[in-house]
Amino acid sequence: MIDLHTHSIASDGTLTPRELVLLAKKEGLKALALTDHDTVDGLKEAYETAKEVNLPFLCGVEISIKFDGPGHFHLLGYFLTPEIKTLDETLSELKKARKRRNESMIEKLRSLGIEITIEELSAIAQGEIGRPHFARLLLEKGVVKSMEEAFEKYLKKGAPAYVPKALLTPDEGIRRILESKGVPVLAHPVTLKLDEKALKEYLEKLKELGLRGVEVYYSEHNKSFTEFLLSQASRLGLLVTGGSDFHGANKPDIKLGRGFGNLQVPYECFVKLKEALEKVN
Ligand code: AMP
Ligand code: ZN
Ligand code: FE
Ligand code: FE
Repeated sequence: MIDLHTHSIASDGTLTPRELVLLAKKEGLKALALTDHDTVDGLKEAYETAKEVNLPFLCGVEISIKFDGPGHFHLLGYFLTPEIKTLDETLSELKKARKRRNESMIEKLRSLGIEITIEELSAIAQGEIGRPHFARLLLEKGVVKSMEEAFEKYLKKGAPAYVPKALLTPDEGIRRILESKGVPVLAHPVTLKLDEKALKEYLEKLKELGLRGVEVYYSEHNKSFTEFLLSQASRLGLLVTGGSDFHGANKPDIKLGRGFGNLQVPYECFVKLKEALEKVN
């Protein structure tokens, strides 16, 4: 069992990077990557803990990308070490954009008669504030009865309090990860919400832009979609990766390494990804 897609309190997970690594070790995972949204702040602690307990580990980040289609586009970047200086500027731009976005989401909620403050969000978040923190706060305040309801009613793309956040185009995102000696991988293709024909063409375009891999094994990918992605990865010469998108208590149904229970990411994915990273470094 391995897991190449996880979140810590540096973004919208609920475990510290150290706790995450120790849990992975305890659960018997053979490799782990930490991929927080738009930040690398948790990587050093995770990297050092992984070294301490002898768990093979890759550094990662998950960046939101501008996408005109129906769904949303997340790009994973994988790296060998936690110091990724060449991404610093990009990530601080992204953090500023997130701040502005959080403020306008608070405004939108206020105009809907719901009062929340940045202080209340910060008390929940510890690291970067994202929509799951909004959802938790709405739940705690009794505005909604579940986090799911918070997304459905207010926070999902197209809902009344939603504000888009992505700054980088696919080309920019891919390029900046490559420039940082990283490997760019398309996260959970299911969320693009493209049909197979459109996705096939989009993958070709991304490959031309420098994409190196695709997240094939994912909690929300069913068997036939997983097979479709495997065939596309092999057709286009893309690396295959996978992970649970573990968020701790913010997504209690998702278990580390196991997803909803049936996730199984082959160890080979880690080996090939690491080889690719060693080649560019
Ligand atoms: P943000 O980076 O602030 O846009 O928040 C993204 C996080 O919100 C990710 O962890 C998503 O999986 C989560 N999220 C997005 N849509 C939903 C939804 N409909 N239900 C639950 N979580 C969601
Ligand atoms: Zn998240
Ligand atoms: Fe994502
Ligand atoms: Fe994620």
